[in-house]
Amino acid sequence: MSPLPVANGVRLTRQRQVVLDTLGTMRTHPEAMQVFHAVRERMPNISLATVYRTLGVLRDAGLVREFVTHDGPRRYDATPGEHFHLACRSCGRLVDVELPEAAFLGRRAAEVTLFSDIEVSQVELTGICPECAAPSGG
Ligand SMILES: [Zn+2]
Ligand SMILES: [Zn+2]
Repeated sequence: MSPLPVANGVRLTRQRQVVLDTLGTMRTHPEAMQVFHAVRERMPNISLATVYRTLGVLRDAGLVREFVTHDGPRRYDATPGEHFHLACRSCGRLVDVELPEAAFLGRRAAEVTLFSDIEVSQVELTGICPECAAPSGG
């Protein structure tokens, strides 16, 4: 048997690989329950508890981000790189915003506070998305 691939010190079992791959294809910053439903299409026997536990392992390894929006449950994100999260106040959708300012903001925050390892993804911006802003009907 060949050894399992290792990422950030975590052995990627098939279960972990499938959870990570599935989350990687979801750009909606899903809740654990939504990840569970998507993963179950590939692994019908996986349990919700296993998905929760696996997300925790992947989060601890830095392969997945876990964060809480101001009024919602924990959300998960496998998108790499520093980025802002912009939430629509109307429909709740959460999108990635990749801006060079994200890295700048992290550096400035580090200078001002002497904190290190700042994650800019935790900044939450809110607004109204184009679909919610468009007049309905038609
Ligand atoms: Zn919206
Ligand atoms: Zn994101």
